[in-house]
Amino acid sequence: MNQLLVFICDGAPVRGEIVSIGSAWQAILEHRTEPLAVRKLLGDFVSAAALLSASLKFDGTLIIQAQSKGLVSLLVVECTANLTLRATVKLAPDCGEINETATLSELLDADHTGRLVITLDAAERKPGQAPYQGIVALQQDDFSGLPKPVNSVAEAIMLYMRNSEQLDTRIWLASGEKNLGGLLLQRLPNSSGHSHLDTDLAIEGWQRIQLLGETITAEELLTLDPETTLRRLFLEESATAGVRSFPVRPIQFACRCSRQKVADVLRMLGEPEVDGLLAERGEVETICDFCGKTYTFDPVDCRQVFKTDLLSDATRPASKGH
Ligand SMILES: [Zn+2]
Repeated sequence: MNQLLVFICDGAPVRGEIVSIGSAWQAILEHRTEPLAVRKLLGDFVSAAALLSASLKFDGTLIIQAQSKGLVSLLVVECTANLTLRATVKLAPDCGEINETATLSELLDADHTGRLVITLDAAERKPGQAPYQGIVALQQDDFSGLPKPVNSVAEAIMLYMRNSEQLDTRIWLASGEKNLGGLLLQRLPNSSGHSHLDTDLAIEGWQRIQLLGETITAEELLTLDPETTLRRLFLEESATAGVRSFPVRPIQFACRCSRQKVADVLRMLGEPEVDGLLAERGEVETICDFCGKTYTFDPVDCRQVFKTDLLSDATRPASKGH
C-alpha cells in the first residue's frame, strides 16, 4: 500500500487525492528512535508532502521544512515529482521526555516562533534562479491580536494552500506506526465565463464534497487502499454525478545520499579542517540523517577527495598538480 490516487468530480469543481503509505513509511522509521508523538507528527508531514507534491504540478522536489525552538528543532520531508520520499527529524538537545499527547504547538511552535517553509525545487532550474519558497506560520492572529495555535499538520498545510497558492483545500491525515493515510480535496478555480448560477452550483458542489470528506475516518485512511477509500467516499455521489480517477501512482522511499555527496561536503570543509578531524579520530565518519547510512573516509580516501578536486577543476591549468 504505497499509492496515491488522483480523482476529479464531474458534478462539482473538485479535485481530490487519496494517499496510502505502508512499507515506504516503515523504511523511513527503520532508523528512527524518536518518541511516538514525534513519529506521528513526522508521519503527517510525510503524507502531506506526497499530497502536495501531486497537487502542485511541477517537476522537481518538494521540501517541507519546519524549524523551531520547541521540542523538535528541525523536521524535513522531501518528495520528488515521481513520489519518492525521504524524511528526517532532529530533537532539541534538552527536550527531555516527550509526552505521547504533545501537540503540534508544543513540538514545533515554542514561543510562537514556529514556521513551515515549503520549497519547490524545480528539476530544471536556471543557474542563479532561486527555488520557489512559501512560508506558513504555525499560529494565526485571532481578532483579539493574540496568537492562536495551528493544531495540526493538516491545518498548517491548508493555510499554506490558501495563502501561497490561493487554493481552497481540505486535508485529512492519519498517522500510525505501520501506515499513513491522507485525503485532500481541492476546489478547482473557475474556468472563464461562469454565470452567477454556475458559481452558486460550484459553491454547493464544493460544500457537498467536503461533507463527504468529513465522513472518512482515520481508521479507514490507515487500513484501506486508495481505490477502496474512493468508492466508500463516493458511494452515492458516483450514482448521480461521475467521479473519475486516474491510474494509481506508486510511492517509494529512497535516499539521495551518496559517497560522492559526502566527498563534496568534505571539499567544502577544506583540507586543513579534514586533516584536523583525521588527526583527532583517524578517519572521518558521517551518518546520513535521512537513511542512517554510514560513510567512512580514511586518510587515503580523504587524500583522494582533495586530489579529485584538483583534477576536476577545469579552470586550473592542466599542468598544475601533476
Ligand atoms: Zn541517506
